[in-house]
Amino acid sequence: MKTLQDLKPLVSYLQDVQHLSSAISMLHWDQETYMPPGAGRGRAEQLSALEGLAHDKSVGPEMERLLSKWVDLKSGQVKGEARDWAEEARALLREVWRDYNKATKLPSEFVRRFGKASSLSEQVWVEARKKSDFSLFAPHLKTMVALKKEEIGYIGYQASPYDALLDDYEPGMTVAKLVPLFASLKAQLAPLLEKIVHSPVQPKADFLHRAYPPEKQLAFGQQVLEAMGFDFNHGRQDLSAHPFTTSFHPTDVRITTRVEADDLLSSLFSSIHEGGHALYDQGLDPDLFGTPLGEALSLGIHESQSRLWENGVGRSKPFWKHFYPILQKTFSEGLTGVDPETFYAAVNRVRPSLIRVEADELTYNLHIMIRFEIERALIEENLPVEALPSLWNEKMRQYLGITPDSDADGVLQDIHWSGGAFGYFPTYTLGNLCGVQFLNQAKKERPDLEEEIAKGNFLPLKKWLNEKVHRWGRRYSSDDLIRRVTGESLNPDYFVRYLKEKFSPIYRLA
Ligand code: ZN
Repeated sequence: MKTLQDLKPLVSYLQDVQHLSSAISMLHWDQETYMPPGAGRGRAEQLSALEGLAHDKSVGPEMERLLSKWVDLKSGQVKGEARDWAEEARALLREVWRDYNKATKLPSEFVRRFGKASSLSEQVWVEARKKSDFSLFAPHLKTMVALKKEEIGYIGYQASPYDALLDDYEPGMTVAKLVPLFASLKAQLAPLLEKIVHSPVQPKADFLHRAYPPEKQLAFGQQVLEAMGFDFNHGRQDLSAHPFTTSFHPTDVRITTRVEADDLLSSLFSSIHEGGHALYDQGLDPDLFGTPLGEALSLGIHESQSRLWENGVGRSKPFWKHFYPILQKTFSEGLTGVDPETFYAAVNRVRPSLIRVEADELTYNLHIMIRFEIERALIEENLPVEALPSLWNEKMRQYLGITPDSDADGVLQDIHWSGGAFGYFPTYTLGNLCGVQFLNQAKKERPDLEEEIAKGNFLPLKKWLNEKVHRWGRRYSSDDLIRRVTGESLNPDYFVRYLKEKFSPIYRLA
């Protein structure tokens, strides 16, 4: 693009900042994978030093000098000859300014205070969860809520203070859009769950918990990742307590998994999930690295990729048509006599459960709605944090018909709030909905897609996603991208129809 020539000084400055961020990400990755346990304090200091440097560079005078040449720093209006540039260059400036403007709103004293408090809070959360003692965590949670409210004060908002938080993870998303979306979803999922729970047909799944050697599980997961098109020359998979994906560059994308000898599917589905995230990161344009156009669009779109692969592909019939014979051969000690139909039903078993990350495709979203309602009560209605454990249990009963015996399996189960990540959870459900809508479109455009998947050929789907979603980075808003790809805005009907079509035969629903 010609205009990128003119933007060269700004782009190379942004790349410098991004290299710093990548170094930070690598230190985080190391902390979760190979760092010796006694190195925590030194690592926290390294991270805080580099984070300070990156923040200073992204709002400093050099950044202002370079950006103000093309953009009015107060209003964000593109100016001068940049007004006539191609849409791509203007999108780049729009997004650079968006990041800059947000970062300058936060006093650096606040950024440091927040960093310290959240790191402390996360450590106490680990302890509180281990001891299942909410009272240990409560004072830190109170601090995190207060800090987020202070942050909202700096950032500002239009309708709901919660919107300012949502915007961090899903730009443009608001309470006003989410409330009706979630209400319509709940109204359709609740009766479906009711039918499934009361169906006389309930899939057997005990064989998933026999002895399955971890090395063999990892090798099988690697085989699936290779088939998906995960590029091991530009990425790797390691072990960590909580699976995640991180990227230092489109040419170096890391995923992690965890593996348990008595659980055949947990590691596999986490590999497929993180593999979906990784294909997005590997599919970003390396020439645009460091600029918003070389960055993932939002958490919701990111999650659409992981869930599309994990559920839409990994829990589908065509996928197992190809992979079940291989799996059965690999783990003959546990799977002998388990026919493909029985296995497929087990992989798709629906059951209200306590832990979000282990939830099935249907109930997962109910876990998200519970968190969304609690977060809004904290931020919009000043609900005291002490009320959380009982409110949690009440909502679990209301949404899923079960309640946890301990706070460890209840209000303390997720790390997000301990680090101040309020407004993050809704992106999981947005990702679920969007992933199905994308996959539906891919099947429409490529009628042979499922046939190819059944033959073990996943590359047509990967290429379709590269072309339609990955390569655009942040060029379009989420809503624009979804409309460009599927012809309409996010529509939960696709997701509901997909669940009904999947679960009706398994549970023999009328
Ligand atoms: Zn994910």
